[in-house]
Amino acid sequence: MPKSKFVDFKAVKEAITIEQVLEHYGLLDQFKRSGDSLSGPCPIHKGENSTQFRVSISKNCWNCFGECKRGGNILDFVSLTEDVSIREAAIRISDWFKPTFDKPAPKPESPNADQKPKQGKAPRAKSTPKPSSDAQETGPNKPLGFELRNLDAEHPYLLGRGLTEEGIAEFGLGYCDNGSMLGRIVIPIQNVAGQIVAYAGRWPGDPPEDTPKYKFPAGFRKSMEVFNLHRAQQVGTTVPLVIVEGFFDCIHLWEIGLERVVGLMGSQLSKPQEELIVKSLHEDDHIIVMLDEDEAGRTGREQVLQRLAIRAFVKVFQFPQEGQQPTDLSGDELRELVGGAE
Ligand SMILES: [Zn+2]
Repeated sequence: MPKSKFVDFKAVKEAITIEQVLEHYGLLDQFKRSGDSLSGPCPIHKGENSTQFRVSISKNCWNCFGECKRGGNILDFVSLTEDVSIREAAIRISDWFKPTFDKPAPKPESPNADQKPKQGKAPRAKSTPKPSSDAQETGPNKPLGFELRNLDAEHPYLLGRGLTEEGIAEFGLGYCDNGSMLGRIVIPIQNVAGQIVAYAGRWPGDPPEDTPKYKFPAGFRKSMEVFNLHRAQQVGTTVPLVIVEGFFDCIHLWEIGLERVVGLMGSQLSKPQEELIVKSLHEDDHIIVMLDEDEAGRTGREQVLQRLAIRAFVKVFQFPQEGQQPTDLSGDELRELVGGAE
């Protein structure tokens, strides 16, 4: 957008679909698709009825048959959701999606393109067919181009887990009270360039039956990202790279000063994760594999060892007791054990 903030409402309305806007808010996974329409709970009045809000994809308009009793286009939607003027809504949408109005539609992203993150957010012209989820199977996760705001960083779950205020702030954690991550602690997930590509939503505490502990946005592929790699690669390589499983393991190690730490978001090392980690390594680099002391963790660490040992000096870390994971040990214990593992 030019600095003058001139905004062509019509062009914005034509370039961006409601679907993209819903996706931007992380709401798309609450919607059911049927033919030309999407239906779900109304994000504007925050309704619970899953059929009250309907979108006509071809007309690019929406209607709420519940409390709002009205409809409109993307500008109306963003204006009502954010409680701003139509003009401000148009400016925000332009900022999020950076649509290119005059230029021809960009070439579709090749799934085989190299992993370098793209500059800016890929605009998708209305005429370009949305790639099916199959087509995206191998491509990089698209940067979200927005940040969740109004997260409660003082939620008791966070400090109750022993996280420090510094860690909470650095990792951008907070409790979310609306949208698809409603009722969850959200953890921003950044790609190697530091762009947010997803949010993990962790249920604070033990979730009720049939509720998953973690929730991710629809279409997000964990296996394509290494949690915290964008921070870890800034740290000098005089210290080993520590590989852990989970978000909180990672944050815990970061908080106690072991800042060169990355999380696999599971106990397996995917091929893309292996490539990302290898790219970040330096000559004669050292790696410590610190997966959970359980069956999955032991299998995972053998696999990581086999695959990374040709690229670096890999040390497998074993916890003293069955079932332990990095968050079970204090800073002093961990530093001592890691020191001994080097
Ligand atoms: Zn409504």
